[in-house]
Amino acid sequence: MTNMNLPGIPSAYACYAKNMEILKRSSSGGLFYLLGENVIKKNGVVFGARFDEHWEVVHDKAEKMDELSQYMGSKYLQSKIGDTYILAEKYLKFGRLVLFSGTPCQIAGLKSFLGVEYGNLLTIDLLCHGVPSVVAWREYLKKIRRKSSIRGVNFRDKKNGWMDFSLKIELQNGKIYQKTKETDFFMRGFLKNSFLRPSCYGCQIKKNNVADITLGDFWPVFVKCPEMYNPMGTSIVLVNSDKGMRALQSIEDQLEIKKVDFTEEQIQTLLKAPQMKPAYRDEVFERPSEDILEFCRKRTVPPYAKILKRKIKTELRGFIK
Ligand SMILES: Cc1cc2nc3c(=O)[nH]c(=O)nc-3n(C[C@H](O)[C@H](O)[C@H](O)COP(=O)(O)OP(=O)(O)OC[C@H]3O[C@@H](n4cnc5c(N)ncnc54)[C@H](O)[C@@H]3O)c2cc1C
Ligand code: SF4
Repeated sequence: MTNMNLPGIPSAYACYAKNMEILKRSSSGGLFYLLGENVIKKNGVVFGARFDEHWEVVHDKAEKMDELSQYMGSKYLQSKIGDTYILAEKYLKFGRLVLFSGTPCQIAGLKSFLGVEYGNLLTIDLLCHGVPSVVAWREYLKKIRRKSSIRGVNFRDKKNGWMDFSLKIELQNGKIYQKTKETDFFMRGFLKNSFLRPSCYGCQIKKNNVADITLGDFWPVFVKCPEMYNPMGTSIVLVNSDKGMRALQSIEDQLEIKKVDFTEEQIQTLLKAPQMKPAYRDEVFERPSEDILEFCRKRTVPPYAKILKRKIKTELRGFIK
């Protein structure tokens, strides 16, 4: 695997983990876990986003393999960065290998905080849709929690496959709430940009390839390289630096991987994916917080035919136990 691209244009690959368990637990192709595993095996430290005890999202570190899995999977919330930049700097100065993963703005923030390049730092960011406000998530959880507290949240459950993913919430009373990205009103509000953070509308950071490696869902896989479609997930990987290329090469034997030709313009389109601000967005947070979700729900109801089709297909999945 060689970097044949012109300087400045990242190399793009379609890939997924050969290990089915890793693939199932990851949002797309499982690259994050394999890269993280490689770093931990070299006595390095991995930073990423995990749930805290309130089912909100925080950045934290993993130094052992049994700590790594909590960072798997996309969490559609702004992750609190806490003291992770300071900790990462400490490990870097100490000479340990550090993998820091986050949204493009978090990686840009880390680099600005560090101020100098470290050879022992590997950074991963994401093709970033943006992050929803935690206020909307708290209101959503209040409704889910009415009968029981929460045991697990998976924004990208692959029960119906990678492309038809659903939000799954396991409750302490044994019930499972599970709805598709179209029928769950938090996911719908997120994907329709109803309550993203203000900085995500017109974000100027994500187009800059700030990290060594950028990971995303390879949604156009059928158009670009259908042979790389895996029903459990295919990632697009943009390799933005020599360090990123070496990291990808180090896990190559654990991947199905194929180079894909994208023009610079196509890559820019992937990276930018500008999030249009709905006309009603400014009104959302002027409302009492308990009204936010209903206000957005009414404005993102999909066409009736689409709902009906989905209902028939899924037999109104929801509390299914
Ligand atoms: C908020 C968000 C928006 C995204 N938007 C898009 C998009 O529009 N298009 C697209 O193609 N892909 C998007 N992705 C990326 C995609 O969903 C996968 O995360 C990516 O393909 C990596 O998948 P994986 O299978 O390699 O690893 P996974 O195991 O799924 O990797 C999870 C990685 O994401 C990090 N992460 C999870 N949640 C957060 C968070 N809230 N903040 C910061 N880092 C987080 C973890 O630390 C870990 O490094 C988004 C991801 C997130 C978190
Ligand atoms: S869209 Fe931009 S500002 Fe929003 S989380 Fe992604 S990188 Fe950060």
